[in-house]
Amino acid sequence: MAGNITFTMIKPDAVEANNIGPILAMINKAGFRILAMKYMRLTKEQAGNFYAVHKERPFYGELTEYMSSGPIVAAVLAKDNAVADYRKLIGATDPTKADEGTIRKLFAKSIAANAVHGSDSDENAAIESNFFFSHLERY
Ligand code: UDP
Ligand code: MG
Repeated sequence: MAGNITFTMIKPDAVEANNIGPILAMINKAGFRILAMKYMRLTKEQAGNFYAVHKERPFYGELTEYMSSGPIVAAVLAKDNAVADYRKLIGATDPTKADEGTIRKLFAKSIAANAVHGSDSDENAAIESNFFFSHLERY
């Protein structure tokens, strides 16, 4: 249903720093239900396909290198107003600009290694969820 799901990844820096547990706890505490989840490592090509909208941006090469540098946790989250509420929970892309108490403020290392991904629209939430999960993998 439109408006009720978003897609997230816990990025390699946060996995490496042993922050999967604290981040999932914040996600649950904020009222999101986990519909689907997997722990995996993306190839550079897969990361490139996921971030294809950023192909022309100067940081694209570094971003896809980084996102394939170690395992990630991918998940589909459900909640009323999921996309906007999750963007609020994670904070600004640049952690130095993220509000106090947000996931990126607490856990991000830099603008690239910024702990988590969050979809920016209902349309992209559906596209990104379908990139990782079949219907049989959602509960
Ligand atoms: N990114 C980066 N440098 C920048 C902007 C973005 O390395 O100047 C990375 C960062 O990991 C970010 C991702 O590219 O999360 C996607 O960028 P976007 O603008 O979509 O930010 P987001 O939606 O993740 O906040
Ligand atoms: Mg984005």
